[in-house]
Amino acid sequence: MTWEMTVGLEVHTQLNTVSKLFCSCKTSFGAPPNTHTCEICQGHPGVLPKLNEAALEKAVTAGLALHCTVNTYSKFDRKNYFYPDLPKAYQISQYDQPICSGGYIDIGTVSDNTECAEPAEESKETAASVYKGNARIRLTRIHLEEDAGKLVHSPHHAESYIDLNRAGTPLIEIVTEPDIHSPAEAVEFLQKLRAILLYLEISDCNMEAGSFRCDANISLRRKGSTVLGNRTEIKNMNTFKGIFNALEYEYRRQEKILNAGNTVVTETLLFDSVTGKTQSMRGKEEAHDYRYFPEPDLPPIRLNESYISRIGGLIPELPDNKKKRFQNDYGLSCYDSGVLISDKHLAVYFEKAAEGYPAYAKKICNWILTEVMSVMNETKTDILHFPVKPEEIGKLMHLVESGVISGRIAKDVFPELCASGKSIDALLNEKKLSMISDDELIREILKKLLAENPAVVQKYKEGNTKTAGFFVGQVMKETGGKGNPKKINVILAELLQ
Ligand code: ZN
Ligand code: MN
Repeated sequence: MTWEMTVGLEVHTQLNTVSKLFCSCKTSFGAPPNTHTCEICQGHPGVLPKLNEAALEKAVTAGLALHCTVNTYSKFDRKNYFYPDLPKAYQISQYDQPICSGGYIDIGTVSDNTECAEPAEESKETAASVYKGNARIRLTRIHLEEDAGKLVHSPHHAESYIDLNRAGTPLIEIVTEPDIHSPAEAVEFLQKLRAILLYLEISDCNMEAGSFRCDANISLRRKGSTVLGNRTEIKNMNTFKGIFNALEYEYRRQEKILNAGNTVVTETLLFDSVTGKTQSMRGKEEAHDYRYFPEPDLPPIRLNESYISRIGGLIPELPDNKKKRFQNDYGLSCYDSGVLISDKHLAVYFEKAAEGYPAYAKKICNWILTEVMSVMNETKTDILHFPVKPEEIGKLMHLVESGVISGRIAKDVFPELCASGKSIDALLNEKKLSMISDDELIREILKKLLAENPAVVQKYKEGNTKTAGFFVGQVMKETGGKGNPKKINVILAELLQ
């Protein structure tokens, strides 16, 4: 492999504010077209934008969580271009003095010093250079800007309509340095970024609805070279799979051009997820094409240190730290804690379940990752709306561990526990499902079984102690799974002596 791929990403994330960035129109998704608009977001001349403070706070939150420098002075600029979804013919954005500078996200083993950060199976095979699994992806900047409206095309594009409900919605654009060298790294970076933004609760990061979308700049250079090759930009990708495939495709395309001794044309591309190919959209524009100039209708943003540190104090525990803590505090494996922290609410659920029963944390984790997840899948519920309270999971594990019910019964009764909304105590009482620990009853059943199965007893006496399992199984059968296996084993050993 003679070529090394270099990728820089620009991620647009919609902030989940109630109102738009410069007016008080609602941002809610799915309203009838053009019902959430006013003179400001429709771009009438002579109106004055006013900055939404909640959007500012969320941008600062993102910056602090991503290790950026939050600038105490920043300003807005007009980015001029023509497109029908942009009525003002300029976007209010930030150019040379953004709200945040620098920052980084660590991917792979850098982030948690563990070995479970393996690249996905599929990514190992790809041509597009090796996944190093160990990198700090630096951020260039984060800036605040407004979204454009949306064009709605009728079938066969006979007509096009403009919906300005989205126009003026607050976005942050997160820009990385060209520190990414494979499609797998790009996807891992984006997944980590998305997880952090979700933990911060500043965006719903709904990729289908377009509130987390990504542009990628890609170039290839000869291995060992320090000069970057000509780059192309792929616009507006909003699935992880699509991003992976687009980068992979673009690597191959550029490789072919370079191997033939030709030059890659600097241009903007669209990735078609159906054909799996990129296609030319337009020549790549440079910053000067946009004729940026300072927005005269908005004052610069001046922040003082106490404002920034107040927001810093509100940042919750982030995924990497939580993952490490779950391993340290509860003895969970890297993999298991990784699954738990992949959804903030799942992590919260686990911790509530384990709260009263830290000794069973691993068992509780297993239960959540198997039984709870399977009910969630079957009933299409998410963990926030899961009908069994986490405390009940802790209690259930306690009942199993202290021998009140068997693991078998716990599994059997769980779907009903989920469906009924009853407490575990109430359900067990109702079904008389506590374990039979009555010595005499177990002894009687065993005596009968030993008498009925002399051949098995003989085998046991000849040294095949595994046959004991046969009797335990038989007792469980006779008691409808309610026998206490520990008790059965003790009494069986006694009798066989
Ligand atoms: Zn408006
Ligand atoms: Mn942008």
